[in-house]
Amino acid sequence: MYCPFCSADDTRVIDSRLFGEGEQVRRRRECTVCRERFTTFETAELAFPRIIKRDGRREPFNEEKLLAGIQRALEKRPVQTERIDQALLNIKRRLRATGEREVASRRLGDWVMEQLRLLDEVAYVRFASVYRSFEDVRAFLEEIERLERDLPPGERERQMELLDSGRDTDAKGRE
Ligand SMILES: [Zn+2]
Repeated sequence: MYCPFCSADDTRVIDSRLFGEGEQVRRRRECTVCRERFTTFETAELAFPRIIKRDGRREPFNEEKLLAGIQRALEKRPVQTERIDQALLNIKRRLRATGEREVASRRLGDWVMEQLRLLDEVAYVRFASVYRSFEDVRAFLEEIERLERDLPPGERERQMELLDSGRDTDAKGRE
């Protein structure tokens, strides 16, 4: 690569390390001509699979849309931004790890639910109620039942109270 200082075309790498979540490589380079040093970041250009929508249409994976959906479910919930970022990263990794060119939106939705479930039960139910209602009310009800069975009794009441108060707030907001 060309030196940004003198445009010589010969630079050498003097240091190389993983950066961020390990998805980037940070390299220190030195120009063999003017001896200036500079940094480059290298990221693998891995395309995400396309998403197959319910109606069969294909669309490019849209990270912003995914994050917006997650944030909607987590609205007013006490979850740290860092944990949301991590969840998003986990979903993107899963998507890439399929190695497939196309992935059904339903699978993507399942991964989102899996991550939300780890983050916050209320957000999980909110997302599931929106996500599932389009195609399968029964599956959603089974999910709620499973949730109720799995949670310890005190925790269950607390979560359901929060869910109800969330609904009240929503209803008032719309008036
Ligand atoms: Zn140079």
